[in-house]
Formats: sequence, structure tokens, C-alpha cells
Amino acid sequence: MMKGKKGEGNWQERLLAWFDGHKRDLPWREDKPRNPYHVWISEIMLQQTRTEAVKPYFNSWMERFPNISALARAKESEVLHQWQGLGYYSRARNIHKAAMEMAETYGGRLPDRKEDILSLPGIGSYTAGAILSMAYGKREGAIDGNVLRVYARLYQVEEDILKSRGRKKIEALVNETLPDRAGDFNEALMDLGADICIPKNPRCSLCPLAEDCAAFRNGKEKELPFRTPKKPPKEEQAACGIWIKEGRVLLHKRPARGMLASMWEFPMALGETEEEARKGLEQLLAGKTEDFLWQYKHVFTHRIWHMKAYPVREGAVPEGEYRWFSPEEYREIPLAGPHARLAAFVEKIVY
Ligand code: SF4
Repeated sequence: MMKGKKGEGNWQERLLAWFDGHKRDLPWREDKPRNPYHVWISEIMLQQTRTEAVKPYFNSWMERFPNISALARAKESEVLHQWQGLGYYSRARNIHKAAMEMAETYGGRLPDRKEDILSLPGIGSYTAGAILSMAYGKREGAIDGNVLRVYARLYQVEEDILKSRGRKKIEALVNETLPDRAGDFNEALMDLGADICIPKNPRCSLCPLAEDCAAFRNGKEKELPFRTPKKPPKEEQAACGIWIKEGRVLLHKRPARGMLASMWEFPMALGETEEEARKGLEQLLAGKTEDFLWQYKHVFTHRIWHMKAYPVREGAVPEGEYRWFSPEEYREIPLAGPHARLAAFVEKIVY
């Protein structure tokens, strides 16, 4: 395995020299020494969106909450408002909770011990590593997707980096190769991963590490990092029944566990074929169905429903959580994803 001793210096020195000459000017990099609070907030924001997009959010956040104590004193609604547009509000809630904990336990400062930082809400090993190395000058790695990718190529790691074996291998390599300027090194890797060693078509001709890179040397830079091919989603036929009686439509509440838990849906049967699903629906409602009126393909992460909705003639309401709803009533209940579309369709054609 390459140990990084090639030409003058090692690859870590080459990377740091490149970083010194190319580093991006970013508002959270301006402090000297670096402000741990700024590092923390910027790192969480950077998990949400691109660096350029983070800048205005970061600046306005710091105007509103200039330090941890100010943040800890704010109401949660103010914090969420300030976060608006970044998505994943749980991250903002965790930031607020962590600030309150820091105000109470650490005198309004970010602790500098790894165990203490990791015990704060919303701070995982990547963010802890970033804060400890960049703000406190500790020799800690900060391994995110960029770092995994760069190392997988540099050391030609052929395992899946999203699986624990591949990740562990890279963690060991990072620990082994971490230089003293760990904070700059971590940021240099992030910049390299963001601008040069990008996911598709890495820009190896511009890379300061091209002569050190095993993947580039062996023409594998586009093949790595290796990812286990995803299983194709399961495709199912879904027959839904539109059964209306005295202005009300029959709906069913899904079980409290599993997919779309506790949400309401039109009576539905799944099958491998359209006929099987339709037959299943007729059996479920002990009735007959007419030609379908609506069709829709709904794609979940791991499955696809090819849905068709059939008007139901006669039948019997099955046992279990089935109820009749008027449109006014079903507008107020949580309808399971694609069934909300079907409800809107039904409302348009029937009511
Ligand atoms: S040479 Fe290419 S693949 Fe290797 S680290 Fe540089 S950009 Fe990435």
C-alpha cells in the first residue's frame, strides 16, 4: 500500500501546500484563531447544502445569535425561523438544545474534550472531529463523504465505503496518515473533494495528489469508490376500491406499524399482476368492481406501486378499521401518500 512518500515530502504535505495556495475564502474561516462556535454552526449548515448557499445563512445567523449564550437564550421558534430554508428542522432544534446544554454545563463554550462534544445533541463523530481539529488544533480526523471518496481513490480501497468494513478501513488509513496540522488537513480534503476529486469525472489533471493516487495510476479513478449495486425496487400492482355510499367514501386505517403507519387509504389489495390485485380487492370487499377510473405509479424508496382505482358495486365492509368519510371529513385525516391523490381525484369526479 502507498505510504505517501514520493518525490519531495509526502502527499499530506503536497495537499497542505495546495490548500495554502487555493483555500476558499469563507466567512467561518476568517477568525484567527478559529472560533469553535463558527466552526460548529458552519459544519452543520454545510451538511444541508452547498458551500456557496451556506454563506448568507451563516452570516445572518451570526448577526442574530453572535455567540452560544445568545443562542441558548433564544426561543426555539426564533431559532427555527433563522434556519428556515435549510430544511431538516431537527438539526436546528438540536443546535438549540446543544447551546442550552453548553450554557448550563460549559459556561457557554463548546467543550474541547471529544467525549463531551459527542454527548451534545446533534453532534456526531464528523462534526466533533471538525471542531476539535479546526478550532482546538487537536489531531482528529473528520470523515465525511468527501473524505471517504478521496481516500478510497488515493489508496484504491475496493470495498464499499458505505459499509462498515470499507469505512473502518478508511478510518484506519485516516488515523495513520493524519499530519500535525489536522484542522487544515481536514479542510484541505474537504476542498479537494468538493472541487477536484468530485464524485463523477474527478479532475485528476488539476489534482495535487495525482502522482500519489493509486486509482489514478491504475485508471480506476472513475470506478471508485465502489458501491454495492442497489437492489431494484419491488414492483407491485395495487388495486384500490372507490366505494361511495350516501355521499361518503369507505377508507381504511393502515396498521400502526410498518409502511405508511396509521394513515388512511382507500381499500386496497396488492398483487403481482393486475388481475391478482383486482381479485384480491373484490375478495376483500366481497363485491364486484367496474372498469378502473384512475391510475398512478407511486415510487417509494424500495418499492413501486402501480395503482388502479376501481368503482365498487355492492359488497360488505370488511372487519377492521374501516370507516365512511365525507370529503369534509377526509380532508382532515392523514391520507397515505398516493391515496391523497386518489382522494383529490374522487372529489373532483364525484362531489
Ligand atoms: S488523482 Fe484524481 S482520483 Fe486521485 S485524488 Fe486526485 S482527483 Fe481524486
